[in-house]
Formats: sequence, structure tokens, C-alpha cells
Amino acid sequence: MTIFNTRKEVSAFIKDSITKSKTIGYIPTMGALHQGHASLIQQSILENNITFVSVFVNPTQFDNTTDLDKYPRTLESDVKLIKEIDSNIIIFAPTAKELYEGNIASKSYSFDGLEHEMEGKHRTGHFDGVGTVLDLFFTLIKPTNAYFGEKDFQQLQIVKKLSSKYNLGVNIIGCKIFREDSGLAMSSRNERLSVNAKKEAAFINKILLAAKKQFDTKSAIKVEEWVIKQFSKNKQFDLEYVSIANIKTLKPVKRKSKKQQYRIFIAAFIDNIRLIDNIALN
Ligand code: AMP
Repeated sequence: MTIFNTRKEVSAFIKDSITKSKTIGYIPTMGALHQGHASLIQQSILENNITFVSVFVNPTQFDNTTDLDKYPRTLESDVKLIKEIDSNIIIFAPTAKELYEGNIASKSYSFDGLEHEMEGKHRTGHFDGVGTVLDLFFTLIKPTNAYFGEKDFQQLQIVKKLSSKYNLGVNIIGCKIFREDSGLAMSSRNERLSVNAKKEAAFINKILLAAKKQFDTKSAIKVEEWVIKQFSKNKQFDLEYVSIANIKTLKPVKRKSKKQQYRIFIAAFIDNIRLIDNIALN
């Protein structure tokens, strides 16, 4: 396995790959890898000559130090999982100081309003942190294609905007959400859930599916109100937001149109652990 820890090692490798006209597929991760990450990696292997995976818990995208401190860090088992997929995959696992070259701070980005919706309202500075770290990774790795999960749908749309608006030249590919048999979206944060909370967490997906059924006949507002009511009856959960939004603008739906596509988004806490999920409505 090749594991790079420094920018210099990556630069030298990339220079060589570009000279040889190889396509590079890239999957940024924060580690604690699961089958959701694995599906992105597998897609990249099919579509590129070289696959690069970064494992890096990015400090600038956290507005909550407890969340950052408690984020699972499991590099050894991550390397094992990647090796089982394909031992030719290149892993990049830098320290924050190395990646940011000593200046661990966010730059400011405008994603044409996408950054002000949902996660942007509840996680101050989150998307500036995401933009900053991906700008650094994209500039260094120069991937042909980069793979992102629809699990973080807002992030996926923002990264598409980042690449096009800031001319980073990376083709951004969205990949479907991988779920547990219970319907719970796979997430590194699930590792922090108790057995009981993990069972209970499948509630989020159940509500999303029921909301989708209702969306055929009811207004977005009515469906959102129904979701809020269901969460208020479930004492294990604390709902942060529910939003039925246009997939392009991510703005809440006022009036449904057959020509537009919509998704429903939920963020909720269980046992103080924040989970997010979303599904397509039409
Ligand atoms: P993370 O390590 O949580 O930052 O995620 C790294 C990438 O994997 C992001 O593009 C996520 O959207 C994606 N991802 C995380 N969980 C899933 C999942 N359950 N299904 C598909 N993609 C996922």
C-alpha cells in the first residue's frame, strides 16, 4: 500500500502520473470508513487509472470542538478496508499542519446562496471549511474525477459549484446513499451510537419514506409540519431541521412544479449525536 503523509510526496507522484496521461479518481473522506465510502472508491476504480483516497478530519469545517474531538479516528482499520478493495489505491493522510502549511484557517467562498440553506444555517462557517480543504486537495491532487455521496447532498451541490465557479477543473460525480438494512444511512458518526440508539435511528429514514408518499398529494409545508409532529412525539430525538427543497437551489419549496425536482432533508440529534439524511421526492 502507498500511504503519503506529505504534500511533497503527493506532488511528485501526481507530476509523474500527469506526464503519463493517467486519469485520477479522488475520494475525500474523514475516515472511519464504511460501505458508503467503499462504494465511492469502487466507482472511482472502475472509471479511472489511479484512485486516490484522502483520510483527513478537517478542523476548519467544525464549528463545535466537542464534535471535532469526538469524531472517530481509525486510520489503521481504514487502511485495512482500502487494501481489501484494491492494494493499488493511494492513500493520503496528512496532518492539519502539513496540509494547511501551518495556516489552519478557512478562506471565504460564495456558492451563490447554496451555502446559506440548511447545514449552512446550523453549522457556522462549515462550507467555507469544506471549500478551503477541497480547494487544497484538488489543487494538490489534480483529480480528473472526484466522488461525493448524496448523503451530504448540499455538500455535493456546493462542491460542483466550487469546481465550476473557481475553475478547479474537477469533474464532480454524485453517488447514491448506502444504507444499513434498517434504512439508516451509513455514517462514520453511527460508530458513536449505542446499540439501542442505532436501532432507533432508523426512524429518520422511515419518516423520510412516509413523507415521500404524502408529497404526492400534500403541500411541502403540510408534509414538513407532519414530520415535525412525528419528531415531537419521539422523545429520543431532537429535530434540528426538516426542509423540502428544490435540488438545484436548495431553497424550501413554496409551490410545487412538475418541472422541478425536490428532495426532503432532515438533521436530528439522538444521544447528542447529529445525524443527517435525505431522499428524492419526485
Ligand atoms: P465523510 O468521511 O463523512 O466526510 O464522507 C466522505 C464521502 O463519503 C462524502 O462524499 C460523503 O457524502 C460520502 N458518504 C458518507 N456516507 C455515505 C453513505 N452512507 N453513502 C454514500 N456516500 C456516503
